[in-house]
Amino acid sequence: MSKATHLECSLCGTRFEAGQIANLCSCGGPLLVRYDLDKIRHRWLRREVPNGTSSMWRYSPVLPPADSAITSLGEGWTPLIRTKRLGARVGAEALWVKDEGMNPTASFKARGLSCAISMCVELGIKKVAIPSAGNAASALAAYAAAAGIESYIFMPRDVPQANYLECKAYGANVTLVDGLISDCGKMVAERGPKEGWFDVSTLKEPYRIEGKKTMGYEVAEQMGWELPEAIFYPTGGGVGLIGMWKAFAEMEKLGWIGGKRPKMIAVQAEGCAPIVKAFEENEPRSKFFENAHTVAAGLRVPKALGDFLVLQGVRESGGAAVAVSDDEMLDAGIQLASDEGIYAAPEGAACVAALRKLLASGLLKSSDRIVLYNTGSGLKYPEAYSTRFPRNGAGEQDKLGGLITPR
Ligand SMILES: *Cc1c(COP(=O)(O)O)cnc(C)c1O
Repeated sequence: MSKATHLECSLCGTRFEAGQIANLCSCGGPLLVRYDLDKIRHRWLRREVPNGTSSMWRYSPVLPPADSAITSLGEGWTPLIRTKRLGARVGAEALWVKDEGMNPTASFKARGLSCAISMCVELGIKKVAIPSAGNAASALAAYAAAAGIESYIFMPRDVPQANYLECKAYGANVTLVDGLISDCGKMVAERGPKEGWFDVSTLKEPYRIEGKKTMGYEVAEQMGWELPEAIFYPTGGGVGLIGMWKAFAEMEKLGWIGGKRPKMIAVQAEGCAPIVKAFEENEPRSKFFENAHTVAAGLRVPKALGDFLVLQGVRESGGAAVAVSDDEMLDAGIQLASDEGIYAAPEGAACVAALRKLLASGLLKSSDRIVLYNTGSGLKYPEAYSTRFPRNGAGEQDKLGGLITPR
């Protein structure tokens, strides 16, 4: 039995029964999972939460699957690390990094797919398909393997090598596509119904967002239930940002936090910045971003289904949407690594670059408590970082050769 009371369309408000296989509403809107929070608040007290398990499933009263269906590899409850040098260097006195690179499959995609695959187990789904620019595919392949479910993955041919190798190793059926994630999405939509695949594309099913919302619960708990003044989030499909915004509303209904919210900062790449463009032009939805390109594979989403929810969250919070260049991302990633010992995905590093810009603009104060989400590990991006440390470049080769070549 699902712990949710119902599913609700985020566009038109139509209600659907919980505990059924569901994709989008007939109006095209993504579905959100709803709970009887009034009832839950009397049964589950904030002071009991720290006794829970050391994974995102410590919040299982507000996650939909039954305990018996949970497919876990230890996702979530990632460290929130107070920076020692980087904050001082950029002029932020109270700066933390939430290190999502510590998740199974080395990205926060593990949270969403642990929850989605658990619901597949509960609902008896045997075959799942996904279009992915990288890390979602790895996480889907891992959790499908853990649950004994078949997975079908469509990824752009130039996807990072690590993601391709992981998916193959986990036993997924992988198709490399000459195109972008949007082209991969079309292929899943076309072939899925005939093949009997359940489509776990971003926001086309309601449960990945539930897994990702636990990032919002965790940051509150780890900061003693006092949310920070600003959260920086590298935004592709925007599910993490939408999920955290939902988590804050739920926690307020549970009586765990007040009405104060962090400024939500959506960070994108200059080569693919549809949300930033819509934010600057005061539009409620984004437009398809032509010729999308960036080394941050997770940010290469030219048009997000939940763009209006991201823009709502950013605007209601008094936040902003900011774009940074690939060069700025990689520089910031190397700075974060050398200052703090955190080797971030370019997506996470983008938050450091965006932080510099917003401190300069005056939107944030140096005394604000600020949390940056490093959504993945730098270890998954050797192609991107090797452009900065070429082994065969002049000079480097001699040094390295001298060290590692047996004479
Ligand atoms: C997918 C991904 C993102 C974007 O996540 P959304 O919640 O879909 O916006 C950011 N960083 C990394 C490393 C990713 O894999």
